[in-house]
Amino acid sequence: MSDQTAPDASSADTQVAAHQDAVGDDARTIRERLAQVTETVRAASREAHGDAAAVRVMLATKTQPAARIRVALEAGHTLIGENRVQELQAKAPELADIPHEPHLIGPLQRNKVNHTLRAGAVCVQSIDSLAVAQKLSDRIAALAAEGHDALVAEAPGTLRTVGTLRTVGTGSPDSEQSGPLVDAAPGSPTSTADPQSPLLDVFLQVNTSREDSKSGVTPAAAEELAGQVRELPHLRIRGLMTIGFPGAGDDEIRPSYAELRELSVRLRDAGVLPTTATELSMGMSADYALAIEEGATIVRIGSTVFGARD
Ligand SMILES: *Cc1c(COP(=O)(O)O)cnc(C)c1O
Repeated sequence: MSDQTAPDASSADTQVAAHQDAVGDDARTIRERLAQVTETVRAASREAHGDAAAVRVMLATKTQPAARIRVALEAGHTLIGENRVQELQAKAPELADIPHEPHLIGPLQRNKVNHTLRAGAVCVQSIDSLAVAQKLSDRIAALAAEGHDALVAEAPGTLRTVGTLRTVGTGSPDSEQSGPLVDAAPGSPTSTADPQSPLLDVFLQVNTSREDSKSGVTPAAAEELAGQVRELPHLRIRGLMTIGFPGAGDDEIRPSYAELRELSVRLRDAGVLPTTATELSMGMSADYALAIEEGATIVRIGSTVFGARD
């Protein structure tokens, strides 16, 4: 029977149409969930900080294909976080035409520093050793010495890198000048660009859960690391990041977030962290409301927007 061995044109059309409907439904769901989370975060931010815009939503995009990330970016979202350098690299070319602000939020090995910079990361939130921080700063210096083109060599980062590996005239990591974290248009080039003194934004990752997690320094070790990283000429510390206590109950999570906030205040009061290093990256899908109550300025949301990961 011919219609069993070779589907006719109209059934092929039906399949294509069904596929497009599914893609359209998926995109709509992402947009709706993103809008919901954004609204919830704005309300919580107003409550905690008296300012609806004091907390930013970072989309945690691990395992998500570029096409689904693009849906969020086309809806006007800009801040995304990738866990793996390889994923950051793979998706960068596909998203290069949309200004956005990709951070690295997973562990960084020294041999991936170059890839991270060239893939256009505008911030590394996972600094937990002097060795990696030193390598980042050295590598930025080397790229700057090759000239501005080297900083933006692999096209995906072009737009973003100009506004990012910044470029503060004085070259002072403590400069009050606001960076891409607070820029309305993170992709826009800065007029003060000085390729000789580019700065990369970083967060120090602190392990506030005391679990045997490999990532993050202990709160006790954060002071020494902050003092060391602060001296590096091409890094600018924007704040602290913690994974906290994923999967734990509120009474375990809350203290781990409170501890990050207290640590941040203490280190700034002591002059160890720059006074401008006020960002607190903490909170995920399950607990972001609580993290905002404890002072988060960036919450990292994955599954609430993109659905459960396999
Ligand atoms: C995956 C991930 C998130 C987001 O997790 P969800 O529970 O999916 O919201 C946040 N931060 C880091 C570092 C992650 O790896």
